[in-house]
This record gives sequence, structure tokens and C-alpha cells, in this order.
Amino acid sequence: MPLTGRLKRLENKQVFISYIVPAYNEEPVIAAFLKALNAQAQQLSQQYEIIVVDDASKDQTYQAVLSFTDTYPVKLLRFSRNFGKEIALSAGLQHASGEVVVLIDGDFQHPMEVIPQFLKHWAEGYDMVYGVRKSRGDESRIKRSFARFFYRLMERITNVSIPPNAGDFRLLDRCVVDSLNQIDERSRFMKGLYAWVGYSSMAVPFDVQERAAGQSSWSFIRLVELAITGITSFSEIPLRFWGVIGFAISLISFIYALCIIGETLFFGAKTPGFATLIVAIMFLGGIQLLSIGILGEYIGRIFNEVKQRPLYIISKKIGF
Ligand code: UDP
Ligand code: MG
Repeated sequence: MPLTGRLKRLENKQVFISYIVPAYNEEPVIAAFLKALNAQAQQLSQQYEIIVVDDASKDQTYQAVLSFTDTYPVKLLRFSRNFGKEIALSAGLQHASGEVVVLIDGDFQHPMEVIPQFLKHWAEGYDMVYGVRKSRGDESRIKRSFARFFYRLMERITNVSIPPNAGDFRLLDRCVVDSLNQIDERSRFMKGLYAWVGYSSMAVPFDVQERAAGQSSWSFIRLVELAITGITSFSEIPLRFWGVIGFAISLISFIYALCIIGETLFFGAKTPGFATLIVAIMFLGGIQLLSIGILGEYIGRIFNEVKQRPLYIISKKIGF
């Protein structure tokens, strides 16, 4: 597609834009959010759709969104249970028909004023434009240092390059969406998948806004889980690591055995060494359990994949 085509259609407001909004317990904000997003969307294009994926909210989010489906180009998917944000986004992507897809949280934390910049870069020829948060000042110190450690680790042990502090606030061209839709994995780490599909990308810095109301549904444990999913679905290094450790330990014990044989031959047998023995047994036992645990982490994921269950179940579908 010629680039001038993109720019021309953007200026003529002819680009069909799909907005995907995952929503879980967003009743206090979702109505105001949809009004604001709709106003913004109207300015950017004559053709657009807003797809809200209600991740089985326990509050009245569904009813709140439903009241918009007649008057606004709002479409609604409701999951049969909570499947999590990553899967909600995947469902949105599979149902979007736009030429350009914008992923945005339904809690005002992603400033929609940035979307025109996303589109500008898209018109310049980038297929993926992602928001990068300028600061993580809103988060606790421990969460921040954990995030930093995680991005460093991912950079080292995987061969996808995940830009730090880039989240799900992004614009995707149709070609990227089609590629993402081909990915059939059950354990979904979207940040990794965006990087994995490739395409030319561009970063746009933005300030994360305060949550307008409600609360973040990401507990620390959930973040750790997400991090483990990220590592195990993009790297085999944790598996190989134990092979290297095993080899090193075997080598050391072989050398040590030679030393003991030599010592016994030249100086005779010595019986003491109880403490060494216990330490060695416990050390090896610990390492073995740890490595079995890591194996289990991968096997659990393989199990999950081979079951071939659908990624999500939609209980209600409005507007499609
Ligand atoms: N969300 C979701 N399913 C979940 C948790 C969250 O669809 O199980 C949505 C939520 O409604 C919001 C977005 O994902 O639109 C980000 O969630 P949240 O604001 O809780 O996370 P944070 O902004 O703290 O990362
Ligand atoms: Mg949020």
C-alpha cells in the first residue's frame, strides 16, 4: 500500500479504525470513557467501531456498555467468565474489522489525546505504534524494580526484543492484526507477541493518567504469573540452564573424586567429612527439586496447549 495513500485517507477521515477496550469491573468509568472515546473517534474518522470486551465483570459494566450499543458504533462481547486482559485483547483483535486497530484501556489511564500521534506515525508508514510510559511514578518501588528486572531478564534470555515500559496502549495496522490472529497459543503474553510478529514499529511517549475510578486488578502475584508466562513462552534458557549446572556439578564431583582417590592412596583413608556430606546432599537435592519445578512449569504449559481448548468463551455478542 503506498504511504501517500495512508496519509491521504487519514486526512480525508476515511481510515476505518477499530478501538478495542478490555473492561473488567469498570462500571464507575466506562460510560464517561465511551462518550469521550466516541467524541475523539468522530474527529479522527468517519468510519470507526468501538469493541468493548467485557471480561465477565462482576458489576454492571455490561449493562452500562449495552446502553451505548444502539446510539454509538459500540459493539460488545461478553466472556462467560473472567479470562484476563491478554485474552480479552485477543478476542477483540479477532473481532475487529478496521484497517487500523487501537488498543486502549477503559479506565482513562491511556490518554486518548495521543491517538492522533499514533495515526500520524501510521501514515508515515509504521505498522505498529506503541505508547511508552514516561514514568512509572504511580507504582510502588517494588513493582518498579521488579518491572526493570523483568525487562532486563527478557532482553537477555529471549530473542524477541520487548521495549521496556511499552504496554498494550498501541495502534496496529491490519497486517499486524492478521499476524497476531494467526497465533494460536493458549498462554498469551501479548507484549512478547507484539514483538514476535515484527513489523516496523514506532514508540510514542505518554504520561500514564490516574485511574479515574475503580481499582487496578493487577495484584503483585498476578504480575509475577504474567512474568513467568512471558519467560516460559519466549525462552528455553531456563530449561537448558539446568543441563549446564548438571554438567558443571558432575565435572566438579569427578575432579573431587580423583582428589579423594589420590589422597587415600598417598595419605590413607580419613573418615571425617560428615558436614560436607550433608551439605552436598542437601545442595543437590535442592537443585534437583528446583529443576524439576522448572520442568513442571513448561510441562504444565505444554499440557495447556495440547488440550486445545478454545482461548475464550463468549456468552453474549452485541452488534456484530
Ligand atoms: N482488564 C480485563 N480483565 C482483567 C483485568 C483487567 O479486561 O481480568 C482490563 C481493565 O478493565 C482495564 C485494563 O484491562 O481496561 C487494564 O487493567 P487495570 O487498569 O486493572 O490494570 P493497570 O492499569 O493497573 O495495569
Ligand atoms: Mg488501568
